[in-house]
Amino acid sequence: MNNMPDLRLRMVERQIESRGVRSKLVLDAMRKVPREAFLPEHLQEFAYEDTPLPISDGQTISQPYIVALMVEALALEGGERVLEIGAGSGYAAAVLAEIAGEVYTVERIGQLAEKAASRLADLGYGNVFVLHGDGTQGWLEHAPYDAIVVAAGGPQVPESLKTQLRVGGRLLIPVGIDPRAQELVRVTRTGEDEYRTEDIADVRFVPLVGAEGWAPEREIPEALQPRRRRPDSADAELVKAIAGSADSFESIDTANLDSWLDRIGGSRIVLMGEATHGTSEFYRMRDRLTRELIVKHGFSFVAVEADWPDAARIDHYIRHFEYPPSEWTAFARFPTWMWRNAEVRAFVDWLRTHNADFELEKRVGFHGLDLYSLYNSIRSVLKYLDEVDPASAKVARERYGCLTPWQGDPATYGRAALTGAYRTCEEEVARMLMDIIQKRTDYAQHDGERFLDAVQNARLVANAEQYYRIMYYGSRASWNLRDDHMFETLKTLLAFYGSESKGIVWAHNSHIGDAEATEMSSRGEHNIGHLCRREFGEASYSIGFGTNSGTVAAASDWDGPLEIKIVQPAIPRSYERLCHEAETPSFLLELRDQPASAVVEGLSDPRLERAIGVIYRPDTELASHYFQAILPRQFDAYIWFDHTNAVAPFDTLELQGLPDTYPFGV
Ligand code: SAH
Repeated sequence: MNNMPDLRLRMVERQIESRGVRSKLVLDAMRKVPREAFLPEHLQEFAYEDTPLPISDGQTISQPYIVALMVEALALEGGERVLEIGAGSGYAAAVLAEIAGEVYTVERIGQLAEKAASRLADLGYGNVFVLHGDGTQGWLEHAPYDAIVVAAGGPQVPESLKTQLRVGGRLLIPVGIDPRAQELVRVTRTGEDEYRTEDIADVRFVPLVGAEGWAPEREIPEALQPRRRRPDSADAELVKAIAGSADSFESIDTANLDSWLDRIGGSRIVLMGEATHGTSEFYRMRDRLTRELIVKHGFSFVAVEADWPDAARIDHYIRHFEYPPSEWTAFARFPTWMWRNAEVRAFVDWLRTHNADFELEKRVGFHGLDLYSLYNSIRSVLKYLDEVDPASAKVARERYGCLTPWQGDPATYGRAALTGAYRTCEEEVARMLMDIIQKRTDYAQHDGERFLDAVQNARLVANAEQYYRIMYYGSRASWNLRDDHMFETLKTLLAFYGSESKGIVWAHNSHIGDAEATEMSSRGEHNIGHLCRREFGEASYSIGFGTNSGTVAAASDWDGPLEIKIVQPAIPRSYERLCHEAETPSFLLELRDQPASAVVEGLSDPRLERAIGVIYRPDTELASHYFQAILPRQFDAYIWFDHTNAVAPFDTLELQGLPDTYPFGV
């Protein structure tokens, strides 16, 4: 991107000079530092937008104007010793280093500190020194400083920083108790014990977290911290209790689970989890349980962690519908192996055969709860309207046209909307959904099934638009939005199948276990398991799954190729390690129905639990895949396979030669 220097000059002129920054030193520094070098690659093209941008770990690189404003307010003349708190990307430190003699910068997030240090070194800033630590206490070793600048907002001015100023030195810091707005203040040390404070501007910064700042938000809540250090002997007792109360079974096909299934068969919702997205045993066991619940307990549909329009193809196939085959391949997006695998195919074929014996109303459906299929859902809505209401189809094409430029990679839409480089399409997609819902009576008389499909796709577009837009702000809001969408879809299905209907959900443990019983809750995240419990109480039953070792289908990076990876044995003291030590290759452990038992009591002490998603990184296993949880509160039952195998993904070639209607598409 060789137009960067021009963009940079224009940025200084339009965003900084025009707003009144006059210091030649500051303007020159801003003209020199390549902001793009401090951004993740996919955001570099926005380097000179008038906005802060996300870096990683929920942090941001400051807006260029704010950096200039703050540096100017420090009134540097050149050659000073400066302390910065909150190195972040290192960008502001580089700007300071263009002017000051030495810049000391402190960052509390280790990864950011490391990256900033190496980036600054690569760019040749030999006068910047980075420390990983809590900057609210300053960096005493190099004090006093001529100037201190804090790039995060605290509740008050930290005393330590004031005392590390040289007499005559200036400290600039955003303060205030409202996390959404702070006052940028300048504190000048006018004497040994004298300070003068002035207000400079209204600003908004990420929180200053530390001893003299805010408490860390992601601290593990008290309730999830191990109550006491359990002696090894207590764990050994617990392992015995697990072995004693678990129902061991030899194989998935022959396990006798009748009495348990009779007990859970009356539930309105049975949620079945998985500890990875690529383990054969988890799919096959869910298949087995689902068949029994359908045949013996009259469950009406299966809803899975897959996109609605893709699952709809499977649904048409298994319920023997006559719709023309769709134009796209089902489950073609990453991670394809989650649904394009031999295990799912076996289940789908069974369901089709099962349904053949029943009239349409009694056939069991298969649906998708997820919301990544923005464009396939748009296509589905348009196709539907073309048939039932061509005039509305025209309006829909115009409205959805708003999202067309981002078809190749919807995540870029979020980016553009975030920087203000593109208006959002929120209103258009919401209006489209409302229109379709309002015409319910008109449309549904054509065909209720197809109306459901159209509404669901329109709802998916509306939620996905929001999802992709906020994905860039960080994980919590987008996680909740996704699980809210799943729950909303589940309730729509229950209503559609009637007041007596019963549903089965297949999704990762992290969605179906109650988030209240895991670290997720401390991040403000909830999930479908939690929402089901809240809404259906005892009529919702969740089953967690776990494994110790074996192989798993997963990628190393998002959008990366499928690999069959070795699952590392579980770490000491984790839930998985306890189950492994029970030396029972596969078992079912009931948790809900025996609240006072030794095993449930022992397991109720919080511990680490493992989650492997579509990405598996064994080299950072502990940090990437373990989280704190209380298993018996998370699930109503737990199914264990000590040794597991990767799913058998099929590629497109294997599907050639199959009939055209085959649901996965060729
Ligand atoms: N100057 C940065 C802006 C970083 S945002 C840039 O130009 O990119 C603020 C940074 O302050 C975040 O990276 C955050 O992790 C860090 N931070 C918050 N509290 C801190 C503390 N007590 N000590 C050091 N850094 C802190």
